[in-house]
Amino acid sequence: MNEDIIAPKHKVRGLVLLSGGLDSTLAICVLREQGVEVTALCFVSPFFDDRKARQATDRLGIALLSENFSEAILGLLRAPKHGFGAGMNPCIDCHTAMLRRAGEIMQRDGYDFIATGEVLDQRPMSQRRKSLDVVANESGWAERIVRPLSALLLPESAPEREGLIDRSRLRALSGRNRKPQFALAVQYGITDYPTPAGGCRLTEPNYVARLRELVAHEGLDDRRGIDRLRLGRHFRLASGTRIMIGRNAADNAAIEADAQPGERVIRADAGPGPTGLVPAGASSEDVETAAAFVVRYGDLRSEAPGSVCVMTVGGGQEHMTVSPIAEKLVENCRIK
Ligand code: SF4
Repeated sequence: MNEDIIAPKHKVRGLVLLSGGLDSTLAICVLREQGVEVTALCFVSPFFDDRKARQATDRLGIALLSENFSEAILGLLRAPKHGFGAGMNPCIDCHTAMLRRAGEIMQRDGYDFIATGEVLDQRPMSQRRKSLDVVANESGWAERIVRPLSALLLPESAPEREGLIDRSRLRALSGRNRKPQFALAVQYGITDYPTPAGGCRLTEPNYVARLRELVAHEGLDDRRGIDRLRLGRHFRLASGTRIMIGRNAADNAAIEADAQPGERVIRADAGPGPTGLVPAGASSEDVETAAAFVVRYGDLRSEAPGSVCVMTVGGGQEHMTVSPIAEKLVENCRIK
């Protein structure tokens, strides 16, 4: 430690935002190397989860706080002040809201500072210097935010000035070249980490297409509808009803497990095939059309009619025999 830095009288505690990727993991290692007691914080919503963060904290042997961020991110999707990235990702507003929440937890639980794994200029929208400053200022916690991987390229933070963190042991990483991170990973003995891409569905083109379609027809108020976007194939019928058809056994099981009272679950009477789901209140025409989709995806090569069982959750069941839906209608109704 620098000689002119006075050793803090208490154990320094940092709250580090962790996605589970390499950068945030390295930020934790850099801080722990100088004796900071680190707790990881990750956010959970219909668009991102804490799976990778859990794996990372298990490897690191540190505690993880998982914070429900659903209402916040759904609010931002309606009107992000700083707009969207290439998908439906309101990254600047999202980072701001995450840091604001992290600051509240820091204050509530007595942490000394918040840290992130951001690397200056690594990402075009959210990690330019201007964006980092906007996010820090709008979060309300600018002085207590530390970015250990790029700290030497950024102004000194309050925890550094206060002697809680030794600035000379922070890093000066920047740009898109990730070789320095890989070298640092070797230095810290980190061999197992996910690729940088992925983790947030709001950046995945196919998912975003589904979400945009949902917003256009139904808005963002149906939480279950949003959660279901990651499952199965989705089709918008001419009536406006959206139906789901499972793609595989896992989808079929998830669709059945999630079916709600009044919804119809459709399965082939014989042999393997997909499970279909029709929303409560759908017309008998829509149910019949959905049955035709189930028959179509049960055997793509057959034009023969098929028999299905339509079960109303919490109600009765009926059997019907229908011809497979015409290919043209499949394409007209398909939501990516
Ligand atoms: S990628 Fe997703 S989780 Fe990350 S800041 Fe952007 S919107 Fe938020």
